[in-house]
Amino acid sequence: MNSELPRSLDQYRRAVRTHVLSPTEYLQETREVIEQNDPQVRAFLHLRLDAAISESKAAKSSSLLAGAPIAIKDNIMMAGEPCTCGSLMLEHYVAPYTATAVQALLSAGAVVPGKTNLDEFAMGSSTENSAFFPTHNPQDLSRVPGGSSGGSTAAVAAGFALGAVGSDTGGSVRQPAAFCGVVGFKPTYGLVSRYGLVAFGSSLDCIGPITRSVRDAAIMLNIMAVHDPRDATSLRHAPVDYEASLQPSLAGKRLGIIHELQGLDVQPEIARAMEDARRAALQSGASVVEVSVPHILSALPAYYIIAPAECSANLGRFDGVRYGLHLEGRDMTETYSRTRNAGFGSEVKRRILIGAFVLSAGYYDAYYKKATDVRQLITDELDLALQSADVLLTPTTPTTAFKLGAVSDPLEMYKADVFTIPANLGGLPAISFPAGTDESGLPIGLQLMGPRLGDADLLSAANVLFTSLGGAS
Ligand code: GLN
Repeated sequence: MNSELPRSLDQYRRAVRTHVLSPTEYLQETREVIEQNDPQVRAFLHLRLDAAISESKAAKSSSLLAGAPIAIKDNIMMAGEPCTCGSLMLEHYVAPYTATAVQALLSAGAVVPGKTNLDEFAMGSSTENSAFFPTHNPQDLSRVPGGSSGGSTAAVAAGFALGAVGSDTGGSVRQPAAFCGVVGFKPTYGLVSRYGLVAFGSSLDCIGPITRSVRDAAIMLNIMAVHDPRDATSLRHAPVDYEASLQPSLAGKRLGIIHELQGLDVQPEIARAMEDARRAALQSGASVVEVSVPHILSALPAYYIIAPAECSANLGRFDGVRYGLHLEGRDMTETYSRTRNAGFGSEVKRRILIGAFVLSAGYYDAYYKKATDVRQLITDELDLALQSADVLLTPTTPTTAFKLGAVSDPLEMYKADVFTIPANLGGLPAISFPAGTDESGLPIGLQLMGPRLGDADLLSAANVLFTSLGGAS
């Protein structure tokens, strides 16, 4: 791409406002980048470049996003466009309405170049569970982009979009952001409406922005964080200007390091990045404190009971009758089983089976109930830890991006989520930001978590660390 073109949403907005750049020209350049590189990266399941280019002609330079291309994960609805969820079950499904968060972006002037690839129904950490094809990491095409929002993240990293929208149930915005070298932000649960997001684990699901800078995440959150009566869990809160809340330093802030995570095996370069971040925080005026979250290592097993339980209930709607794939059987039962057997891939089936098992009579107390108790315990412990620290710093992932096909054991794959899941269990905001590279030049991501509705302070702290570790604001 022409090196004079803006790299961030913020730069783009300014260039358009001052008439240095026209949205349509920018989109035409973006189209070339996509046409040249997406055949290798495969970020998109559906492209709508002609429509996006014609929409950009109507973009007002004064609008908040002024024709900026924003890619949408294909489990979030945009009326009239496909919404496959990466599944054969919804291969030919067309969204009948637009998700509230997407509508907010469109109303602010964004245009959508396409819908992006994902692990089927957002279940996975590599985008290899897509029923259609895997996405490749733009930093190294032999590696996965992470998941499940791998297409959205690869699109931002490859210059196919200035920002993207993903969903995060256990880390699906943050983990791929870490693998691709971009920013991924999961807001406080309920801050961004889930209306129009195809449900996976409703008590955990969040829609969040994927961007090239922390400032850009704040810009997108300003637009997406609206109260929505169509989502019963949507929070009512006083409006906050997340971009204007970005502070230049960490003066007076307490950065917490979680004691129980210290012993975990992480790639040495990631451990070094943690040290660099800690030093940068001290230099910026923060104090560093060690906090305890005694049961944090039980977050992963608790999540892999709660998320499948909720998914087994949510995916019950795909019965071959109301929408999506339909395979006729001799009777109703055979219609259901033929449809669900052909429509779902093996990871989704595994989750449905686990979920139905842990919710069944006789096992409910032993598994589901116990997991929800553990969730409450960890939530309380995180709340307490966030009284002695303003933000908590962890790696986003134990390793950098792995090779396609390298992780075939599902349990090994689940371990990629060890650092990201606690924020979902607690409903806390959390962000992954780039913090250098490993010996092979692959991006490293670090994570900050904050208290519920502490999104503004969290973004501010992340922005300071991101910029002091080499990120461009
Ligand atoms: N990797 C996790 C899982 O497979 C998280 C997925 C997500 O956040 N959507 O469940």
